[in-house]
Amino acid sequence: MITEEKLVKFIHSLEPDRSPALEKIRREASAAAVPIIRDETAALLKCFIRMKKPKRILEIGTAVGYSALTMAECMPSDGALWTIENYPERIMRARRNFTETGYGSRIHLLEGDAGGWIRSYAEQGEKFDLIFLDAAKAQYPLWLPELLRLLPAGGVLLSDNVLQGGSIAESRFQIERRERTIHSRMREYLFRLKHEEGLESAVIPIGDGLSVSVKK
Ligand code: SAH
Ligand code: MG
Repeated sequence: MITEEKLVKFIHSLEPDRSPALEKIRREASAAAVPIIRDETAALLKCFIRMKKPKRILEIGTAVGYSALTMAECMPSDGALWTIENYPERIMRARRNFTETGYGSRIHLLEGDAGGWIRSYAEQGEKFDLIFLDAAKAQYPLWLPELLRLLPAGGVLLSDNVLQGGSIAESRFQIERRERTIHSRMREYLFRLKHEEGLESAVIPIGDGLSVSVKK
């Protein structure tokens, strides 16, 4: 039987080279143990950006800007991206990476807690054509109502790490105590995505699990 690991390795072997800028950031991130999206997730993300051609993208969880730049390289020429990060050291790095790659004016780095930004954008009636959610996993279900307000009809919500290295499928009693909050919150999030009236959602076992939701 073909193992899943073999398949993932095979898919990796198909990946073309990254842009030199992204390669450099990926190396730095890996040396500093900063988490970034996996290659196969990046590939799918890029396809969604090309299909949707979003003029306004919102990312939650910048880290050092790898996924933001991956998306920015594919967005339409009149597109812009807003990305939120609360970790000062990563904010500094991300800002430098955006400037050095020439995206300083098309990527807006928002500093501070994502929850606050999402709330105030929702209150102001801001809209984003595509949202990439990749931060504080336990907050996903709590942020969902406001994220939905930020999407126009046809807007897309992509959420990363929803399968939690496969542990999402385990019984909660198999999960270590300190992981239980994330486990139950992520299950709640996936349940809500699938049962929310106004959403069409699919869960894709790619990378660490990506959910795709479209607002009806
Ligand atoms: N999207 C990035 C990886 C993001 S890692 C990439 O693929 O390149 C998740 C990031 O979210 C971390 O850098 C973490 O500091 C940030 N984060 C976690 N909780 C947050 C919160 N409540 N507000 C803002 N940023 C947060
Ligand atoms: Mg992630």
